Amino acid sequence: MAKDEKTFRSVVEVAQTLTPSYPVYCLRPHLLRRNAKRFMTLFPGTVLYAVKCNPHPMVLRALYDAGIRHFDTASLPEIALVSETFPDAHAYFMHPIKGRAVIRSAYTVYGVRHYVVDHPDELRKVLEETDREGLVIVVRITTPPAKGTLYHLAAKFGAPVELAAELAKEAKKQGCKVGFCFHVGSQCLDPGAYRIALDLVGEVIERSGVEPVVVDVGGGFPAHYADTDPPPPPLEAYMDEIRAGVKAIRLQPDIDLWCEPGRALVAAACSLLTQVQLRKDDRLYINDGIYGSLSETVQAKIELPARLVRLDGPVANEATGYLLNGPTCDSLDVLPTRYQLPADAREGDWVEIDQIGAYSNANATHFNGFHPETYVAVGDEPPAVVRRL
Ligand SMILES: *Cc1c(COP(=O)(O)O)cnc(C)c1O
Repeated sequence: MAKDEKTFRSVVEVAQTLTPSYPVYCLRPHLLRRNAKRFMTLFPGTVLYAVKCNPHPMVLRALYDAGIRHFDTASLPEIALVSETFPDAHAYFMHPIKGRAVIRSAYTVYGVRHYVVDHPDELRKVLEETDREGLVIVVRITTPPAKGTLYHLAAKFGAPVELAAELAKEAKKQGCKVGFCFHVGSQCLDPGAYRIALDLVGEVIERSGVEPVVVDVGGGFPAHYADTDPPPPPLEAYMDEIRAGVKAIRLQPDIDLWCEPGRALVAAACSLLTQVQLRKDDRLYINDGIYGSLSETVQAKIELPARLVRLDGPVANEATGYLLNGPTCDSLDVLPTRYQLPADAREGDWVEIDQIGAYSNANATHFNGFHPETYVAVGDEPPAVVRRL
């Protein structure tokens, strides 16, 4: 964030100042910096931020200010965004399937040297489209589905152990350095999944005889969403499993250990201020929905804490379970669970939805002309995690 950009004291001040009839993301840059610093302190290696989770410039800036200098990128626009915003930062090409022109541009224009592959044809593409100078081929290994993950990210990408070993041997033979990576799935609630995946890395090293220069344990670290869920295990439990896993497979001491968190860094650092445009009985028609910031309430069945913001007087003590309807004309555009909000909610009130930092603006479409895009900085300390009424 630019130094002269206004920081609002609270979400109420945002509502007072802007009286927004459009959705507003309320980012707490200080929380984001704190999350990132904590993660960097606990992780025994280098933390790459997964840009796809939230590429907003204010988010990237807060992470950079916290000391993040390494970014997991998956497309040329992401690489350009990182490289041009922060000339001293490093982008890594973590998508296992890339266009040839994109590989060439990443290598020659942006100087990207790390490329993920999970198939021999992709390895061939990377070798053909670069001059191989300084190339590090990072072989993505497929992992078994982990307990409680929202998305099984190994369903689409990743090589089984035997193929991963072949890829490592071939990359080495072609004169490249070699790394290994995996992704246990997003919002992974089982720290043991990282241990299991690291064991597979150990198997690949043994089979191939190739010592990696980097092992990347990916993302997947959870956010703590709703009060109805049992809380996820603490971050420390994940770090313990990773440390134990690394020790068990006896990596060389000079190896780089990386992780690529997205959700765990940004989810809690942002809320969304939506406005009630109309009420029909227990249905509130708000100005953001499943085609905008709230697609994960459907795709990943995430329940988000919400509360009513009203400027001109008190709200009722009793609650009603409301259906929150999004703004588009599609009748599917309704949040799948009921939200407990004051019984007298009415047109003009705002509904602040918490924990919206991850996969929100990043996933929003322009469907029907609705596109949430306003970001403001807020300097308050939101109440811890839950504030369902
Ligand atoms: C999406 C993704 C991440 C980030 O995942 P989170 O679950 O948000 O931590 C990291 N690495 C890769 C390769 C990804 O695809």
